[in-house]
Amino acid sequence: MMIDLINKLEKEHSLTADEYKYLIDNRNEEYASMLSEKAVDIRKKIYGNAVFIRGLIEISNICKNDCLYCGIRGGNKNCDRFRLTKEQILSCCENGYSLGFRTFVMQGGEDMYFSDDVMCDIISEIKTRYPDCAITLSLGERSYESYKKLFDAGADRYLLRHETADKAHYAKLHPDNLSFDKRMQCLENLKKIGFQTGCGFMVGSPFQTSEHLAKDLKFIEEFKPEMCGIGPFIPHKDTVFNNYTPGTVELTCYLLSIIRLISPSILLPATTALGSIDPVGREKGILAGANVVMPNLSPLDTRVKYSLYNNKLSSGAESAQGKAILEDKINSIGYRIVTDRGDYKRI
Ligand code: SAH
Repeated sequence: MMIDLINKLEKEHSLTADEYKYLIDNRNEEYASMLSEKAVDIRKKIYGNAVFIRGLIEISNICKNDCLYCGIRGGNKNCDRFRLTKEQILSCCENGYSLGFRTFVMQGGEDMYFSDDVMCDIISEIKTRYPDCAITLSLGERSYESYKKLFDAGADRYLLRHETADKAHYAKLHPDNLSFDKRMQCLENLKKIGFQTGCGFMVGSPFQTSEHLAKDLKFIEEFKPEMCGIGPFIPHKDTVFNNYTPGTVELTCYLLSIIRLISPSILLPATTALGSIDPVGREKGILAGANVVMPNLSPLDTRVKYSLYNNKLSSGAESAQGKAILEDKINSIGYRIVTDRGDYKRI
């Protein structure tokens, strides 16, 4: 049964939600390596041994939301807040460009300071200075009109994790004023506007079941995002989930392989969270089917303040300045880092 399902997934890039659940519930090492071999094979056909790098700039940890899992949630009084200026962001880009980055990802909490005017000004300035670079945004939920303005100003991609494709589960991870339907509508809007759109979720988030994960996989299959960010949930000391068990590298990698088989040309990062809970988590992610890494380009002093979860890595190979270390690690597993925009390949 398992082998039939794995073969079916490889051929048809689609399973029913029940079949995804079965695949998750009955996993073992043998099936995991079958899946990762197939995932790596299919990715090789499309992207060769290329790993794309993105320079991550954390522009603000000020947030009006209070997501229960997140260390920078508005209600966290212990969070030392910061916001980068336009000049600081541009100097991150300058630094990143000289290090070989051709995609800049601006991520932040939902900080009202970054209005459409402020963001559009920053985006067009980056695009004027670095016309060969792509800009990815990860700034949470905004209106259709706002997303459209950011797109028209030159932003190419937008990451907005759906967090969970199960409405009841969504409600357990978020305060009442945040809604599952709105999140999903935002994702639809981003796609409609023309962004390369990324969704994603945490693996092992509180109350998550294999049924929820099966729904996440079905959602990815149907929504057809160009990017998908998944990483283990890691508790943060100043949240109500402080004492909850973190997600595992094992399940994250298993799901990375499945997502690669669902969507062969998807841009799939080996996330910082994966690198943070295992010293070779990043490499394991790539060997399971991931093809993107996002080292940190933020100023050194604000990096530690962007604390989404305990012990989040932001130095060594997770830092843009550590690109040589990262390059060695990637080379040692038979891959190579490429210096280009690394756009989604439509096949
Ligand atoms: N405000 C933006 C960016 C959020 S931070 C937005 O809403 O999209 C980026 C991602 O970090 C989140 O989508 C979430 O999936 C992840 N994250 C937050 N807290 C985490 C935790 N405790 N463990 C692991 N990942 C976490």
